[in-house]
Amino acid sequence: MTPSSNYPNTQLLIDGQWVDAIGGKTLDVVNPATGQPIGKVAHAGKADLDRALASAQRGFDKWKNIPANQRAETMRRAAGLIRERADSIARLLTQEQGKPLVEAKGETMAAADIIEWFADEGRRVYGRIVPSRNLSAQQLVLKEPLGPVAAFTPWNFPINQIVRKLGAALATGCSFLVKAPEETPASPAALLQAFVDAGVPPGTVGLVFGDPAEISSYLIPHPIIRKVTFTGSTPVGKQLAALAGQHMKRVTMELGGHAPVIVAEDADVELAVKASGAAKFRNAGQVCISPTRFLVHNSLKADFAKAMVAHAEKLKLGDGLAEGTTLGPLANPRRLAAMSKILDDARATGATVATGGERIGDAGNFFAPTVLTDVSLEADVFNNEPFGPIAAIRGFDRIEEAIAESNRLPFGLAGYAFTKSIRTAHLLSQQMEVGMLWINQPATPSPEMPFGGVKDSGYGSEGGPEALEGYLTTKSVSIMDV
Ligand code: NAD
Repeated sequence: MTPSSNYPNTQLLIDGQWVDAIGGKTLDVVNPATGQPIGKVAHAGKADLDRALASAQRGFDKWKNIPANQRAETMRRAAGLIRERADSIARLLTQEQGKPLVEAKGETMAAADIIEWFADEGRRVYGRIVPSRNLSAQQLVLKEPLGPVAAFTPWNFPINQIVRKLGAALATGCSFLVKAPEETPASPAALLQAFVDAGVPPGTVGLVFGDPAEISSYLIPHPIIRKVTFTGSTPVGKQLAALAGQHMKRVTMELGGHAPVIVAEDADVELAVKASGAAKFRNAGQVCISPTRFLVHNSLKADFAKAMVAHAEKLKLGDGLAEGTTLGPLANPRRLAAMSKILDDARATGATVATGGERIGDAGNFFAPTVLTDVSLEADVFNNEPFGPIAAIRGFDRIEEAIAESNRLPFGLAGYAFTKSIRTAHLLSQQMEVGMLWINQPATPSPEMPFGGVKDSGYGSEGGPEALEGYLTTKSVSIMDV
């Protein structure tokens, strides 16, 4: 292996120190643009987890007793460091995950913004005083931090999948132990380094890597852990939620989606393609809120498909570090295999491949931006989240048909629609079974807006004041004068 000169090996963060796994075990980290190993990541065993857990408890005991305004100052310091270091963090992120550097930089800067928002919101975690039925008693509703949090985050947004959890946890006074993705470990480590440098007490934040199932099955039932938060696929989310349920742990689940894009009869096609095309191919489609089922009114379908093909063909596929790249490789070979399977199935079920449809080159995980038209409802791509650079289009005649198709699947994360009619916009906002709906625009998931899904896409929110609720307990206190 030739480790990259500017890509570090990643250790575990336990008790404020970067350490190797006690057993010395490591895993290789591979650059998805080249298929070559670029570094190593420490692989934690049970002894490492026990140390991390004990430290998370100590970290909680310290952090929760720091006043909210001071916690906010520390978080703001961390956000400032992340901004200062954004160029170097983004380069790590691109090397391990593949996305174009400009997207990696955007993710890093957005992380700083999210942390600042949570820092400020943490200052506004108020309780209530409730008038008592007995005037000699005062009734208080207290909001308290839940305790040490175990978080499990995926590789598609190695930093941002962490900050939405970390921000809410730290803002409320919880400590935070995250198992970040083994495939993309260095940018999460750089993120947490900023918190260490900002001065969080040891154990307030911890970072481990290893075997995901082994770590989750150890951390979730552990008595020190009081809250579980996971982002990833629906099948894994259901397993983890079931385990958390057996141990009565509070849970936030951000799971898969299959976002419908309804392009109504009166839509602005140019706007629809510009907004949803950019969103479709961002991060090579490996985004939980990526537009995936394009439902286009039959009168606009040909124009829409033509414009989407033109959009896809303008993308510049390449190494995310290379100047001008707008579409990077898929993050791992599993996605490449999944794309080939989706394409075989789409062809077999009668779809037309309007552009793309194949792997590009034989080094790295490059897959051509793909547009499929006349996709059948039975096609795999219309039923299972593609999580890749594939736009699948089918037509509809009546808006009710499009709504029924949107709601047909068990998922309900993001949805999109394009219409000039306020009446249609209201109808869609009332009837689409999604947690987030963007009309006449691309996704704009700001930290102050709730972020989360319904149905099999999970529960709990990772944005807005709702996100903090997930990390708080509510205590009723009544004090009688004597
Ligand atoms: P996967 O479902 O095995 O893994 C998804 C994530 O969950 C990974 O980060 C993995 O480390 C973690 N994971 C898996 N098993 C776990 C366990 N038992 N305990 C704790 N964590 C566990 O497969 P994958 O190939 O990495 O991704 C496949 C699918 O996952 C994608 O097609 C997509 O649908 C979904 N996914 C969703 C998101 C998202 O943002 N919601 C992110 C990544 C992947």
